[in-house]
Amino acid sequence: MTAPGSGKLVLVSGPSGVGKSTVVREVLGNLTPSLVRSVSATTRSPRPGERDGVDYHFLTPAEFVRRRELGDFLETIEVFGQGFWYGTLWDAVRPSLAAGKWVLLEIDVAGAEVVLREFPDAVTIFIQPSTLAELEHRLRSRGTETEEAIQRRLEVARREIALADRYTHQVVNDTVSQAVTDIVHILQDRGIPK
Ligand code: 5GP
Repeated sequence: MTAPGSGKLVLVSGPSGVGKSTVVREVLGNLTPSLVRSVSATTRSPRPGERDGVDYHFLTPAEFVRRRELGDFLETIEVFGQGFWYGTLWDAVRPSLAAGKWVLLEIDVAGAEVVLREFPDAVTIFIQPSTLAELEHRLRSRGTETEEAIQRRLEVARREIALADRYTHQVVNDTVSQAVTDIVHILQDRGIPK
């Protein structure tokens, strides 16, 4: 499917803990109003400071299933094999694409593949940690996950990093400001409207 209007999807992936959300927030700040963020749905609980409808739509498992059956999702996935579901809502992308916006999706590698089948002209960006040790340090210092959850996230991270070359653009998050600058330049080179 070609995106309606002149909008385009921007798929941003990278291992949990790499600092995607911070980088994405600043990229959006730099490129508003051409670029908007798709707010995903999830069945995981909100972390401290996360707001429903802003960071995610936090759904109960029953509500998630109901909406999936209604066809509300472009893609859904159980990311950490622990019963937590994540999904991109059609409502979070279609209206913005139709309005000519570029829509940024923070999405895992498997979800990105599903979206790419539907939107092959999506821009794909993988955010790499400087090292795996640094990633582990960040996951621990966040202090929001149990040791078991951290180990699971690290395992998923290793698998995701191994697939990073499927992405057209790679950005290393050594410093947030450099990563933000790199992504802004990528999107400008790809022709994001001013
Ligand atoms: P977190 O729980 O740390 O917010 O996100 C965990 C993982 O889920 C991240 O790798 C993130 O990119 C991915 N994710 C967030 N929203 C979606 C979504 O809508 N679809 C898919 N496939 N993955 C998502």
